[in-house]
Amino acid sequence: MCGIMGLYGLQDAAIPACEGLFAQQHRGQDSCGLATSDGETLHRFRGMGLVRDVLKPEVLHTLQGSSAVGHVRYPTQGAARIENSQPHLFVKEGRPLFALASNGDITNLPELGREIEARGYVLEGTNDAEVIAKTIGVWAFDDGLGLEAAIRRWMERGSGAYSTVLLTPTELYAFRDPHGFRPMCTGEKEGGVVVASESVALDIIRARFTGTVEPGGILRWGPDGLSRLRGVEGGARHHCIFEHIYFARPDSQVFGESVFDVRRRIGEALADGDDVAADAVVPIPDSANYIGLSYANARGIPLVFGLVRNHYVGRSFIAPDQVMRDDAVRLKFNPLPGFFRGKSVVLVDDSIVRGTTIRKLVRMLRENGAREVHLRIGSPPIRYSCYYGIDTPDRERLVAAHRAAPEVADQLGANSLRYLSLEGLRSCVRNASHFCYACFTGAYPAGCKRATQEAGC
Ligand code: SF4
Repeated sequence: MCGIMGLYGLQDAAIPACEGLFAQQHRGQDSCGLATSDGETLHRFRGMGLVRDVLKPEVLHTLQGSSAVGHVRYPTQGAARIENSQPHLFVKEGRPLFALASNGDITNLPELGREIEARGYVLEGTNDAEVIAKTIGVWAFDDGLGLEAAIRRWMERGSGAYSTVLLTPTELYAFRDPHGFRPMCTGEKEGGVVVASESVALDIIRARFTGTVEPGGILRWGPDGLSRLRGVEGGARHHCIFEHIYFARPDSQVFGESVFDVRRRIGEALADGDDVAADAVVPIPDSANYIGLSYANARGIPLVFGLVRNHYVGRSFIAPDQVMRDDAVRLKFNPLPGFFRGKSVVLVDDSIVRGTTIRKLVRMLRENGAREVHLRIGSPPIRYSCYYGIDTPDRERLVAAHRAAPEVADQLGANSLRYLSLEGLRSCVRNASHFCYACFTGAYPAGCKRATQEAGC
């Protein structure tokens, strides 16, 4: 999961692009970058770390021009290193011809990467956006297809998830995979155009929301204005339901619907038919806050923010060794002193992946005197890996892969565990059939060979 920005026709585009990335920092904290065009030349800067630390005023000053593409990265394919950070440049004879930034995962990446290397190109990193950039560049400029046809060819050959922006010295393109896994919206500001992963990026720069890049669609903005180019037919939509459950900000609109509204409905659906007795509902901040709030309202149990989160513990702070990871849970969450003593609490989270964090939190509440801890989860059990831009582990490391709820509750040290059912989750979104639920069901979209083979479906 990553965040993207694209701007066209806005004075000093680097500044609003940077603000838009800042608003989408939750979508990726490992690295970030911006490329701009002054109408003739592309300028780029990327770095490891947060937007505020990488895209400093003195850097933005060097990124001249009225169009830009930008990216915040959360690594799924390829390690956290500078070669994998975006935007990527396609360079020919020493001249950058375009910059590209993308959100998603490509499921036939090895095959496409090998093709590019066979054409004499070296892949500097290991992430999919570099393969997208080089593939499109080779077809467009070496094979003479031109950009429009090369993008369309990419959309016919590449499978998986991608919401992508591509900037040439004079044009901005935005295109999205035919299933529409990741969100991508458009806006207008002062006669210019903005493209972003989430609408919150438009709000922050006071751009007006105008719509979305349709799945399978290609948009181009140039000196002659907007062109809607022929894309590819998509078949079924598979919007990632986890954007609503966890990833997107609650103040965003994604897939045509308010994230806050969906989370509110999730909390209500989770409360429906639940009769566990408790003194308080405690959401795990921040992503479970709204689910916990509406669960508590529906149950008539007081909501207490009993776990305080330290917002300054970024992913980059967390060292990869296990000892530090254990400490990281303590660094990130601290219980209100004295609050849990003798109480029965409902601990609400949005989802359980490996179960490592929630197990430590349950232990923490017990060490602080909680009498009973009942887990309530705003999604069904995750039983399968994701291949579309979310960093889930191998299936065998998913705590619910082969365990029923009572067994998972035992593993996590909780008195009880209740998930939201799949039917319950489907009832929380407007167009339930437009969403992907593969990590719950193993029913991957047709054509994803890697997913069906690895998941054993
Ligand atoms: S498998 Fe799960 S996390 Fe991945 S795109 Fe589908 S719903 Fe989202």
